[in-house]
Amino acid sequence: MSEKRVDNIKKNDIVTLKITSATAEGSGVGKTGGGIAVFVPQTAVGDEAEVKILKVKKTYAFGKLERIIKPSEHRIEPDCPYFSKCGGCVWRHISYDEECRIKRQRVIDAVERIGGIKTEFAPIIRADSVDRYRNKAQFPVGADSDGEVKIGFYAFHSHRIIDCDDCALQPRAFARVVEITREFITLTNADIYDEATSRGRLRHIYIRLGEVTGELMVCFVVNGNGLKREDLLIKMLRDRLPNLKTVVFNSNREKTNVILGSKNRVAYGDGFITDELCGLKFKISPFSFWQVNRRQSEKLYNKVREYAKLSGGEVVLDLYCGTGTIGLTMAKDCKALIGVEIIEDAVRDAEQNAALNKIENARFICADAPEAALKLKKEGVSPNVVVLDPPRKGCGEELVNTVAEMSPDRVVYVSCDPATLARDLKFFAERGYRAVEVTPCDMFSRTAHVESVVKLARL
Ligand code: SAH
Repeated sequence: MSEKRVDNIKKNDIVTLKITSATAEGSGVGKTGGGIAVFVPQTAVGDEAEVKILKVKKTYAFGKLERIIKPSEHRIEPDCPYFSKCGGCVWRHISYDEECRIKRQRVIDAVERIGGIKTEFAPIIRADSVDRYRNKAQFPVGADSDGEVKIGFYAFHSHRIIDCDDCALQPRAFARVVEITREFITLTNADIYDEATSRGRLRHIYIRLGEVTGELMVCFVVNGNGLKREDLLIKMLRDRLPNLKTVVFNSNREKTNVILGSKNRVAYGDGFITDELCGLKFKISPFSFWQVNRRQSEKLYNKVREYAKLSGGEVVLDLYCGTGTIGLTMAKDCKALIGVEIIEDAVRDAEQNAALNKIENARFICADAPEAALKLKKEGVSPNVVVLDPPRKGCGEELVNTVAEMSPDRVVYVSCDPATLARDLKFFAERGYRAVEVTPCDMFSRTAHVESVVKLARL
């Protein structure tokens, strides 16, 4: 009887739960007496808590933390005033050790359960600093119903802008840019974009920092070509940010959630910044793909290099190469490098990055990775090592098939989604490639994302 009652939970009920696991999205999970899993954000494994039920499905429910009865030993005090509103960070309330444990376990669970793969799992590559690691940020600009200017982030699952003076994941210089822009808006009564009516000008501030060089790029996304009195804005930024390298106006007149439009106008500087990675120089323009956590990327790429085990004579195929970063950091250790990337600008950047670093054994192809791989195979290209770094949807069966038919000795798979990685590892296993070792890597501390790199060898 009592079990049945517990299972009959409904919206607005308050239940007492022991949190026993965590989801990939960053919620704690506790089971009701009747076995219904309740997902509760901002709880930690080990918490005993009173939870308000928000939504009930057949076998699970969503809840909101009301009160902690007994805190988990992994709990820490969240040190960001926006934590409960923002949704960017999901793990600010637990220790970094616990965060790393959860992330590594998530990779293990996916590979073993979805992929059915037995392999070695190395310790997760930890971050030296879990704060201020991002080198890129986008701030929506808007006004509330009273006309008060808001610059910050969208409230979780909404398009309401919450003012934010400083984000703990971003360099302090970014907050300075926001502050100066606020002053400019007040001073000039600048025209702010209104999402509801699609009227007004200034939509977003988009900022990038070269962490090693210190170079700063500020890009204003406008519904139009520019802003009135933008010379004053540029002067204010230049006067107060000595590292400012370039200011760009990006034109986005579309009614869309996509932040950047397709056209840039350089208003100050060269339109790009440079930064360094694994001892090489890279040019970064507004559209270039560049890993947001440079320090962790270096560690990740070092692991890729270790797994690729190059001795100088190899042909390396770098699929989904972006601006060429992974391949270029290995170019001096191999005979030839072929990179494939679908975005034209990124390919152009990759070519320029090769030239910038006097790398002459690399070529880049602008194409869909599965199609390009098939074409290269038909041309008789036979790489010794293939590096894969696909977006979240993974490589898919067709590409895995083509790679396996090219018969490289080693494949190094970099993944930002454990589930699609697991699926692809299964395809590889069916085609004679064994996952030798998986190394999870924490590229996005405090958020739910986890990266991994896998070494595969031909059986
Ligand atoms: N290896 C790079 C970039 C990885 S991000 C780095 O570490 O910096 C994944 C890249 O895959 C992006 O640059 C994206 O533009 C590209 N991409 C997405 N779909 C693709 C496809 N079908 N074919 C080729 N490249 C693709």
